[in-house]
Amino acid sequence: ERIEGLAPAIAIEQKTVAHNPRSTVGTVTEIYDYLRVLMARLATPYCPECDNPVSTQTAVDITNHLLDFPEGTRLVLAAPLHWQPTIDPDNLWQDLRTSGLVRVRINGKMYTLDDVPRLSSTASYDIEAVVDRITISEANRSRIADSVELALSLGTGVMLAIDPDSDEDETRWKVVRHSQLLACRKCGYSMQTLTPHSFSFNSPLGWCPDCEGIGTQTGTSPALLIDPGMSLNEGAIRMWPIASELGPVMLHSICKATSIPADVPVEKLTSGQRRMLLYGTDDRWFRATNAKGVEFEFQWKGLFPTLEQATRLSPQLRQKLAPFVAEVACAACDGSRLNRDGHFKNSQRNFLSAIFCNEYSLQQSRRRL
Ligand SMILES: [Zn+2]
Ligand SMILES: [Zn+2]
Repeated sequence: ERIEGLAPAIAIEQKTVAHNPRSTVGTVTEIYDYLRVLMARLATPYCPECDNPVSTQTAVDITNHLLDFPEGTRLVLAAPLHWQPTIDPDNLWQDLRTSGLVRVRINGKMYTLDDVPRLSSTASYDIEAVVDRITISEANRSRIADSVELALSLGTGVMLAIDPDSDEDETRWKVVRHSQLLACRKCGYSMQTLTPHSFSFNSPLGWCPDCEGIGTQTGTSPALLIDPGMSLNEGAIRMWPIASELGPVMLHSICKATSIPADVPVEKLTSGQRRMLLYGTDDRWFRATNAKGVEFEFQWKGLFPTLEQATRLSPQLRQKLAPFVAEVACAACDGSRLNRDGHFKNSQRNFLSAIFCNEYSLQQSRRRL
């Protein structure tokens, strides 16, 4: 079956324009400018670390959310304080006393303000003001609402609801963040408010800093390197030395310490977990034991940096790795050209890049289809 002679829904004039590697049909026709406005107003942002929807909450939303817990649940409400070594702790404790508070949490441990340990000016601390210990009940609504307000004002828009589980060490109690700012509730990643600039790959405000809005890079192709349908245990990373004795031991140690599941397909990992695999875990040290029972420590620098370094070190290796190198979608923005806040791991982002992708990503999406 076929239909012929259908008029195009949108027709654009052919014109000669200055060549710019960032130009697309969308930017040349200026349709993209309207879409940026639409996206800034209507899009739901997603956390680039854990792919959860990110939203703002009002104090009333947070109170209602807390009241959704089963009646009788006990919670500790706290406010994270932005403590820096330059702040005099005694002044801070005095300010908290003035606000009517009696307890603080330092690195997860609770102290009354009268027996706080001395803080070292060289160490870093997570300090939270304990605002209230509440029991969930509709009858307590106004007290909970007041405490939420106080916690939000002390925490400049952010507060914590801590679940005091008596079976667990207090430093491991479950903490849920609530924020009046645009922030992820799970990991606390905070985002800029979305504006049309957030979606502009022609400006430093919106472009991906790694490819400066071009969307591609010359480098190792993740598609060639990783089989997304396989799990790490099954050998999803093609270059991983599974055959060698240390390969599986190191992989196990990294997965255990970072909570990256080794038995689910790589495509099901969160963006943050995939980024750890590709770009490493900074200066963190992992421990593992070799077959002779000797313990050793190592750092995980990530697949991309490791391969890049390897090709620089030896011409033979460079030749061996050549099949893995290609003009590929920028790994930082996944080819979307936008920075982390503007590129979403969901249909909305696909919507934008599907309409305005460059020639390269067009080929890619055709291949995917
Ligand atoms: Zn998150
Ligand atoms: Zn990029």
